[in-house]
Amino acid sequence: MVKSVVEEKREIPVAGEADVVVVGGGLAGVAAAVAAARNGMSVILIEKSCVLGGLATLGHVCVYMPLDDGLGHKIHGGLAEELLYVCCRYSYNTIPDCWKGGPSYVENPEGRYQTTFNIPACIMALDEFMEAEHVKVIFDTVFCLPIMEGNVCKGVIVENKSGRSAYLARMVIDASGDADVLYRAGAECEEQKNIVSHWTYEVDVEKIRSGTEKDVLHNVRMRWFGLRPDFDNSGSTLPMFYGTTCEGVNDYIKLSRSLALDYLKKNQREGYAMMTLPFMPQFRMTRRLKGLKEMEVVPRVHVEHSIGCVIHCLENPEEVYEFPYEALIDSKIENIAAAGRIVSAGGRGWEIMRFIPSCVLTGQAAGTAAALAIKAGCSLQEVDVGALQDNLAATGVMIHMTEELRNNRKNPVKKSLNLPINTDTLAYSQH
Ligand SMILES: Cc1cc2nc3c(=O)[nH]c(=O)nc-3n(C[C@H](O)[C@H](O)[C@H](O)COP(=O)(O)OP(=O)(O)OC[C@H]3O[C@@H](n4cnc5c(N)ncnc54)[C@H](O)[C@@H]3O)c2cc1C
Repeated sequence: MVKSVVEEKREIPVAGEADVVVVGGGLAGVAAAVAAARNGMSVILIEKSCVLGGLATLGHVCVYMPLDDGLGHKIHGGLAEELLYVCCRYSYNTIPDCWKGGPSYVENPEGRYQTTFNIPACIMALDEFMEAEHVKVIFDTVFCLPIMEGNVCKGVIVENKSGRSAYLARMVIDASGDADVLYRAGAECEEQKNIVSHWTYEVDVEKIRSGTEKDVLHNVRMRWFGLRPDFDNSGSTLPMFYGTTCEGVNDYIKLSRSLALDYLKKNQREGYAMMTLPFMPQFRMTRRLKGLKEMEVVPRVHVEHSIGCVIHCLENPEEVYEFPYEALIDSKIENIAAAGRIVSAGGRGWEIMRFIPSCVLTGQAAGTAAALAIKAGCSLQEVDVGALQDNLAATGVMIHMTEELRNNRKNPVKKSLNLPINTDTLAYSQH
């Protein structure tokens, strides 16, 4: 077999131009686009699928993790809080009454400030949200390459039904979930293998009956195959996969779907059906930027250039961390910012930054920073971080934690998060 071929050099049309082009319409990309638009920028968002939401919708991750620390303090405000309400605008939510409206502190809360949401309703609410914010969304369009001139990205080359074309931009935000733009622009990145997890939705007459009696229909339909990130998986024989190669993605998809099929074969019975499968491989962390600065995973420490506080959403209660602006940008590339699960945070930091509220926070910060850089005529490295912090704080983002959060966390008792998931099919995790 011939090992390689030469791609023909050719002229392609410019399909559009905007101040800010966002690649990827997951919740981080949505937040980045809206933040840039609210700061006066024209924005185009490129999305390879035909819906917004990314893992949260296509990947079935319809659990918007907590905005509070488990001790009654609200940690996430700004767009992270606003998007939680957008996701459940046209269907049910599971937000405890004490948190509705978003108080900054609740004494003895009856639950965490989180919600599950209905995927179709969320998708349509996101469409409406983007239209209201004047973001031009281009669906069914795959980002292929950044157009680089030295350390400056002039736009992106994409491919869709019309063929190959370019979108020009003054600033680009990589919200692809896999750092596709930054990596192809030459930024230093880290990759890691992923455990298999497969969330499906099912109809089970028995469960619907009991759910209806308790008025919790929304809690009875998710089924999880594969492994959990919060378990010790060392005894598992399931392989792990990279989400950044054709082979890794295909092997992951085929294995995870075969686990669902095994279950379906064993559960052929009246009153049971699988309703839907995920339409995006459910990789958690694939590739991330190794940016100008890495997040330091030390709780309760003051970070001067913090763009907001974050928490590890699988713990209850949670420690609070401040996240640095420089972890959104490369040391050299002047105008591509990272947003979402690809920001510069390794190890436990990567785990913290992949949860939906953290992804939305970094999306908001990246979109706002891009707008400030355009207004100031400077690079992302030269952005006035004080002005960025003021801008984010004005929308409700907690930039630095209060002294109470920093000093006064008296031996809290760890509690269960009570995730609304059927865990009885985690057989493959050897637990
Ligand atoms: C199994 C699983 C369970 C999880 N559980 C939870 C949970 O309960 N709660 C929680 O808060 N978080 C959870 N997470 C994490 C969370 O869902 C994600 O980290 C978060 O949604 C990522 O958002 P994002 O916008 O950064 O990336 P993504 O949601 O991955 O969005 C990236 C978008 O970019 C698009 N894209 C990619 N490449 C291209 C390209 N080349 N051209 C154009 N578009 C492109 C994709 O189609 C997608 O829409 C879970 C993750 C997994 C995998």
